[in-house]
Amino acid sequence: MTSHDYIVIGAGSSGSVVAARLSEDPRTSVLLIEAGGSDRSLNIQMPAASYLKAIANARFDWRFKADADPTRHGRRDYMPRGKVLGGSSSINGMVYLRGQPEDFDAWEALGNRGWGFADVLPYFRKAENNENGADDLHGAGGPLFVSNLRVTHPVSDAFVRAGVKAGLPLKSDLNRPPQEGVGFIQATQVRGRRCSAARAYLWPAMGRRNLRILSNAHVRRVLFDGTRASGVEYERSGQRESAVAGKAVIVCAGALASPQILMLSGVGSGAHLREMGVEVVCDLPGVGANFHDHPGTCHIAWVNTPTYNVQTGLPRILWFGARWLLTGRGPASTPDTHALGFIKSRPDLERCDIEYHFTPVGYDLTEDGPILFDKPAVTALANVHRPHSRGVVRLKSADHREQPLIQPNLFDDERDLDTLVIGAKFLRTLFETDPLSRFVTSEFKPGPDVCTDEDWRSYVRESGIGFYHPAGTCKMGRDPQAVVDERLKVHGVEGLYVADASIMPQIVSANLNANCIMIGERCADFVKSAG
Ligand SMILES: Cc1cc2nc3c(=O)[nH]c(=O)nc-3n(C[C@H](O)[C@H](O)[C@H](O)COP(=O)(O)OP(=O)(O)OC[C@H]3O[C@@H](n4cnc5c(N)ncnc54)[C@H](O)[C@@H]3O)c2cc1C
Repeated sequence: MTSHDYIVIGAGSSGSVVAARLSEDPRTSVLLIEAGGSDRSLNIQMPAASYLKAIANARFDWRFKADADPTRHGRRDYMPRGKVLGGSSSINGMVYLRGQPEDFDAWEALGNRGWGFADVLPYFRKAENNENGADDLHGAGGPLFVSNLRVTHPVSDAFVRAGVKAGLPLKSDLNRPPQEGVGFIQATQVRGRRCSAARAYLWPAMGRRNLRILSNAHVRRVLFDGTRASGVEYERSGQRESAVAGKAVIVCAGALASPQILMLSGVGSGAHLREMGVEVVCDLPGVGANFHDHPGTCHIAWVNTPTYNVQTGLPRILWFGARWLLTGRGPASTPDTHALGFIKSRPDLERCDIEYHFTPVGYDLTEDGPILFDKPAVTALANVHRPHSRGVVRLKSADHREQPLIQPNLFDDERDLDTLVIGAKFLRTLFETDPLSRFVTSEFKPGPDVCTDEDWRSYVRESGIGFYHPAGTCKMGRDPQAVVDERLKVHGVEGLYVADASIMPQIVSANLNANCIMIGERCADFVKSAG
């Protein structure tokens, strides 16, 4: 049995940051335990390859399957989650987007002192190395490379120009408030390679003698001495092992696995744990509650120009790959999303509540994962920023190898469906606007039969899907459902923290990666200052 000051569970967007920052002090020893393996694969590092070869690949993806959602005719979502160093930041779409300032101010207004936008901005800047340099919002010199797109596509240009024609402001910096507008993304990339949290934070720290990274080790539970977290039990190569934590255990396993690990460790709803045969350490009913995701839907059109769908023959792949290896440019460097747009669903709203993604690749998001078409097509996605619906994560059994029960309840609150219908309708308007309309030969989804309000509601309910952004299941706060306090310490026990997307009391109005990295930065400071 080994002993360390700190044990970090999960080397994802937040956990990589926590482990790297804590081990900056050579007097501190840190053990980082990750269920997945190495991220030094072309399928992770080459942006275009990830979508085809990393997502849904058991070597890199947990491939969670949600339970039947009664709010969507029993649909069962496939939910990719990175199982590799870097976690989901190693398989994600690389869009660099922060929450709106009001998101963080709202967290603070809920009683989470020190989480307002003015408090979190320095941590976004500290993390960031923006290709465009530092300014009042952006950082330069941080570990996370944020780059301009290194590839263009005429249909992506047309989407942005159609957005402007439809009345949206053109944005050169999508992270500069107010969010409303349309523009090209910046990506978490370095010279055309993926810049995951592992590449940004762990690769430079791997040589430290005080940081031990244990990969391919599946955590079973946190061990307690009374109500004090004293270590971690994990399984590696079929063997059960454990490690001692002298100071603290930090759970960073993501919004699906963090609540599962807490519950397997005896921290959760007492009644549920007893039902599952788990000894209760702390009755904390909010563990696994407050699940939410960005509900979204897609718009797919056939187009009259080659998209990446038809550029997959062997000679082209070899050419794209060689170009990427030599210059870091070209289609192999492309994130799937090129442009984003943001609108208000109603003119009286103070801030945007709908986000659009545009990809010069045609794919459908199905219950079994993304399916790529074999003819020229494009896909745009609409999603709701701040959903009202809430789902839940619970144990299915006390066996850590069994996936938890995930009940998304995506449209439990009809307001989310109503908002998404507005967002989906405006997508059609964009596709009918010049110059995007010039490329479109026909609309595949929603399709010409979707015309009336009732058609739209049915379409959105049937096609609606969580946007791979689960959050909120160990929420920060002081109310009876809260799991961690504003310094990310788990209520009711000692020496235990949670830091990842699960701590968000309300999901941010953005993709989550940059926000989880910020949470990791903050947690490391909290843990350091607790001594
Ligand atoms: C396909 C996809 C595309 C996305 N696209 C974008 C995007 O373009 N931009 C963006 O901002 N966000 C995007 N996201 C979302 C974003 O990447 C995630 O929300 C974010 O990375 C979550 O960070 P996290 O720290 O909460 O968890 P994760 O990064 O998922 O980290 C959790 C880690 O814990 C490990 N772990 C879990 N259980 C155990 C266990 N029992 N034992 C040991 N280790 C364990 C996991 O293997 C993983 O490494 C995308 C997500 C996906 C899946």
